[in-house]
Amino acid sequence: MGIDGEPLMNRQFLLIRRPQGEPVPADFQLVETPVPATPPGGFVIRNHFASLDPAQRGWMDPHDSYMPPIALGAPVRAMTVGRVHASDNPDYAPGDWVLGLNALEDYTVVDSGRVDLLVRSGGFTRKLDVSFVPSPTMFLSGFGAVGLTGYFGVLEALRPKAGETMLVSGAAGAVGSIVGQIGRMQGARMIGIAGGAEKCRRLTADFGYDIAIDYKGKSQRALIAEIASAAPGGVDMVFENVGGDILDAALMNIAQRGRILLCGLISEYNALGPVGARNIWNLIVRQANMFGFLVTDYIEQYDEAGRQMAQWFAEGTVKVEEDIQSGLENAYPAFMRLFTGANTGKLILKIAD
Ligand code: NDP
Repeated sequence: MGIDGEPLMNRQFLLIRRPQGEPVPADFQLVETPVPATPPGGFVIRNHFASLDPAQRGWMDPHDSYMPPIALGAPVRAMTVGRVHASDNPDYAPGDWVLGLNALEDYTVVDSGRVDLLVRSGGFTRKLDVSFVPSPTMFLSGFGAVGLTGYFGVLEALRPKAGETMLVSGAAGAVGSIVGQIGRMQGARMIGIAGGAEKCRRLTADFGYDIAIDYKGKSQRALIAEIASAAPGGVDMVFENVGGDILDAALMNIAQRGRILLCGLISEYNALGPVGARNIWNLIVRQANMFGFLVTDYIEQYDEAGRQMAQWFAEGTVKVEEDIQSGLENAYPAFMRLFTGANTGKLILKIAD
């Protein structure tokens, strides 16, 4: 119940139509309904912050990926951090901070079945110790799955040797800003690609990159040449976040026996038809290896890696950049920042103080 015995209301940002290409406001609807009663053995979360991720665009499509699509009429799935508002579960007390795969809504009801399932599967919903972080948002940015994408992608999948060259696209974003810093820590020569002069300034000033390349307004031919002049011997590793023309330019610069980690292909997520890398023949010429990467492969190691990130952050070795937008009612324009490139670092939506 809310104040004066009025029912507590829940605003939810629903997916009501599958986007055709770029999402438009009419694909979504903000509705308000009473918060259901706390289920037996379950609890209700007051969401404070939600992660806005490129992956959500994929979940809006009708086909299964590594997760089922968001059902039409359901709130948009999102990782959130929030506090337990009401509970019938002895392990979750009111006031506890929790992280979970929830939704863009004020309150998320977690029933006992879901608690069991999540605990058994290694758990997306879990309690958080917020005492050692400057803000609980860090569990959505540097210490959460997105920061750990950079961590595991570099340290476990690409494993740079000192002196090797790594090319990173989407370099000023949530993942890319962490990749630059961890790659540099390993002694790699880091080249970052991002859109615009200010992002490129941040790449070398703050995110560990030796060289920044601004791709905006450049032809693919110009981009290929610019990468070649930054890495005359070719790039030993590519950490690919963008795909499309940028991946094609990377392919043309891959070194002999180079390795290309496909983390994401954001430039292709709103495409209406199939898009694809056209220069993959160069993998044959250079005997290079291109492979897919999913951070969830490392879920068992999240806690340990999160602690390592927290230590690096506390020592000042790793910076974590956040772009926090406010208000569930602004979910649509906030989400679109990922596709216009308005965000630097991890995009987060603040739902409540
Ligand atoms: P970012 O914070 O990097 O935000 C997206 C950025 O992508 C924008 O800021 C923009 O930067 C760039 N971008 C958007 N559209 C285009 C375009 N058409 N051409 C070129 N650049 C574009 O997002 P994340 O760090 O959260 O995610 C980065 C990538 O990693 C995504 O592809 C995502 O799907 C993937 N990912 C994969 C995971 C995995 O386990 N495989 C886990 C987490 C993320 P700019 O201004 O520089 O253009």
